[in-house]
Amino acid sequence: MNFDDTPEEAAFRAKARAWIDANAPKQFEQELSSASLGRIRLKNADIVEVGKAWQKKKAEAGWACLQWPKDYGGHGASPIERVIWQQEEGVYGKLTQPFQIGEGMCGPTVMAYGSEQDKRRYLPKLASGEEIWCQLFSEPAGGSDVAGLRTRAEKRGDDWIVNGQKIWTSGAHYSDYGLLITRTDPNVPKHKGLTMFFLDMKSKGVEIRPIRQANGMQEFNEVYFTDVVIPDSQRLGAVGDGWNVSLTTLMNERMSIGARLATGFPEMFAFCANLMSENGLAIDDRATRSKLASWAVKASGLKYTSYRAISALSRGERPGPENSIGKLVAGTMLQDIAAYAMDLQGAAGALTGADEETTQGQFQQMLLTSPSMRIAGGTDEILRNIIAERVLGLPGDIRVDKDVPFNKVPTKGRG
Ligand SMILES: Cc1cc2nc3c(=O)[nH]c(=O)nc-3n(C[C@H](O)[C@H](O)[C@H](O)COP(=O)(O)OP(=O)(O)OC[C@H]3O[C@@H](n4cnc5c(N)ncnc54)[C@H](O)[C@@H]3O)c2cc1C
Repeated sequence: MNFDDTPEEAAFRAKARAWIDANAPKQFEQELSSASLGRIRLKNADIVEVGKAWQKKKAEAGWACLQWPKDYGGHGASPIERVIWQQEEGVYGKLTQPFQIGEGMCGPTVMAYGSEQDKRRYLPKLASGEEIWCQLFSEPAGGSDVAGLRTRAEKRGDDWIVNGQKIWTSGAHYSDYGLLITRTDPNVPKHKGLTMFFLDMKSKGVEIRPIRQANGMQEFNEVYFTDVVIPDSQRLGAVGDGWNVSLTTLMNERMSIGARLATGFPEMFAFCANLMSENGLAIDDRATRSKLASWAVKASGLKYTSYRAISALSRGERPGPENSIGKLVAGTMLQDIAAYAMDLQGAAGALTGADEETTQGQFQQMLLTSPSMRIAGGTDEILRNIIAERVLGLPGDIRVDKDVPFNKVPTKGRG
């Protein structure tokens, strides 16, 4: 492993840093720096609108969707250049949340399976933030087991008629387009009867119901489809090949999630270094020091594991399934750190308001947001399965319904 920039990488970093310094929306720097981890609300501005303006500015200067080909709104940059950009973008990267699903998952799927005409029509607008995309995969009966989904698409002439429900769809309420996986053949085993489409989220028959989360935000949604018409030209991949198409999306999801992992450790360290208790500074307390030490070890482990992935990218290789360890460790750590910070605050830990609480409610938000990190993009158990099966070579999970026609899988009476 070599962690130093090559001369070319150093030149790229200097160029990115200079551009960001001259163009970033600095009026939000302070607020973004102190904002809690997870999804963010700005005090006096709509983060989606601020994000759109930042994305547009980046696109005009060739800094958006860096690794995409130039023809589709990107810059043809190498994966390592993208990592360097993200490191330099720093807190302003928090403004890119509304576009991450489009850039990291929907765009690459359209790039792999869309027609040339579609790629030229949709990708540049996605890259510039003019149009936002969401990912319509999870359903009440199909989350970890996406292939268990029940949303039906039936062929009628040149169109498909879609009926069903998705859930947990991040950003559906402000999205223009969605990547939608459906069941087109219930007579074959579950992985074989799926087909992927993209659709206009303003289509007739699409109903979006926001879900209020424990942290007070409304970032994801239920999405209902009632006789929604999708032209066959908006199919991605062959009929029945939706599972393979979805693997392209999910593989890109794991890669893009791994790129920006938060652990809460720097925030916790700074908090303990300043928190005065009856017995002195929290950082001088032996029990707290012991916890900080073990989190410091984990944070270093994560840092160097991600450097290993970055080194692989720098050599032109793709990080493998071992990358799953990052989210698994960071998710638990974030939750543990937030809970301990609340304990240290004593009664004040119960206050969540930004104004009345010493840490601006940062750890309270972290605590309420942290469970979602252990679920989104693969739960802890699913990541453990990936590590067990694909990294350690242990025997596979038992999958009793794998070869059974989908409509013969017992459902306790559900159709
Ligand atoms: C913040 C957030 C944003 C999200 N955004 C999106 C989005 O934009 N689009 C989208 O489609 N989805 C989205 N999701 C949904 C997410 O992908 C699912 O929640 C996730 O895949 C888990 O599925 P589930 O909720 O149905 O839980 P289930 O799959 O029902 O799991 C329930 C429990 O069973 C465990 N379990 C399941 N299978 C196994 C197994 N084989 N072995 C051991 N344990 C198992 C799980 O680990 C979990 O603890 C989002 C979720 C969150 C939290």
